[in-house]
Amino acid sequence: MIPIAKPQIDETEIQAVSDVLRSGMIAQGQRVADFERAFAEYTGVDHAIAVNSGTAALHAGLLAHGIGPGDEVITSPFSFIATANTIMYTGARPVFSDISSDTFNLDPEQATEKITEKTKAIMPVHLYGHPADMKAYEEIAEDHDLALIEDACQAHGATFNGKKAGSFGTGAFSFYPTKNMTTSEGGMITTNDKEVASRARMVREHGSRQRYLHEMLGYNLRMTDICAAIGIEQLKKLDNYTSARQQNAKKLNEGLRDVEGVTCPSVQEGCSHVFHQYTIRTQDRDDLAAFLREKGIGTGIHYPIPIHLQPYYKELGYSDNLPVAEELSDEVLSLPVHPQVTGEDINFIIDSIKEWGGTR
Ligand SMILES: *Cc1c(COP(=O)(O)O)cnc(C)c1O
Repeated sequence: MIPIAKPQIDETEIQAVSDVLRSGMIAQGQRVADFERAFAEYTGVDHAIAVNSGTAALHAGLLAHGIGPGDEVITSPFSFIATANTIMYTGARPVFSDISSDTFNLDPEQATEKITEKTKAIMPVHLYGHPADMKAYEEIAEDHDLALIEDACQAHGATFNGKKAGSFGTGAFSFYPTKNMTTSEGGMITTNDKEVASRARMVREHGSRQRYLHEMLGYNLRMTDICAAIGIEQLKKLDNYTSARQQNAKKLNEGLRDVEGVTCPSVQEGCSHVFHQYTIRTQDRDDLAAFLREKGIGTGIHYPIPIHLQPYYKELGYSDNLPVAEELSDEVLSLPVHPQVTGEDINFIIDSIKEWGGTR
C-alpha cells in the first residue's frame, strides 16, 4: 500500500523526545521557546507563538486581532473545516467567497466584492501548499483596513515573490502528522506585529501576561516541550522534505500530462509550491479513486464538501452559490506525493492512472 500521507520520524526525533522526558520538564518550557525562535527565523518574521494545533493558531490569531461578535471575516469555502470554525469560535461570521479554478485559492477580485462595513479581516488559505495571491491580499487589507490572516496550515516554507507564507500578515501553521512537518499535534502563529504577538501569547495563557493577573478571556493553548522537541528536529529537515515533495510532483506532472481527462496542478509565476497535496482534477474522480485503491494506492479528497454546504453551515443559512468550489469538490483527487513516496512508487502511480485511462 502506498499511503496518502506518512510522517517521517527518525532516531533524532526519538532521542530529542527522550531527552525532554528524562529532564522532567515536560510542559511548555525552553524547547518551546527554542522552537519558536527557529520557526520565526525560518519564516522570516519577528515573532512566532507555539500552540497545540493549527486550529488553535487560527483561533488565537483571530482573537489577537480583536475579531469578535458582529464582525465578518472573508475566507475560502474550499478548505479544511477549521478555517471557518475558528471564525465561528470568536463569534464573528465567516463570509465565503469563491476560489479561482487555476490555484483553487480564494479569488481576490470576488473577495473584494464581499467587503462590507462589518468586514474586519480577510483570511486566504494557501491551499495544498500553493501560496495565495499575497500581492493582491496585502493591497486589499491595506485599502480596506482589514486584518490579514493567512491560513498557512499546509504551506510551511512556500514562497510568494521570494517571501515565505505566514510572513505577509498573521500566519497560522499546523504540525498535524499529515502536514509537511509535524510535532504530533501542534501549531504556530507568526507575525511581525509586536502587539498581535503579545495578545496571541495572552490568549494562549488564560488572558494572562503576569501570573494570576487575567486581562482578557483566554484559553490553555500551550504546546509541550515534548512536541517542540519533535518540531525542532523536523524543521531542520523541512527543506529536504519539501524538495522531495517537489521532485515527486514534477515526475507526476511529466507522467500524467498527456493522460486524457486528467488535469495536473500548475504553479503560478513567482510562487514556490510546497505540495502538501498533489491534487489532480478528473470528471470520473470516484471511479479513479476506486481503481487506485484496488492497486494499493491511497488517495484523498480535499475536500468532498465545500464548507458552506456542510450540514452545520447549511443550518446556519448558507447555501450553494459558489460554483467553482462546488464543481471542484466533485473533481479533485490527491495522490501520494510525500517524501517517503519513492521513484518506483511514482512510476507505479503513473502507470496505474494510464491503465485506468485506457479502460475508459
Ligand atoms: C490542518 C489544517 C488546519 C487545522 O490544523 P490542526 O492542526 O489539524 O488543528 C486548518 N486549516 C487548514 C487549511 C489545514 O489544512
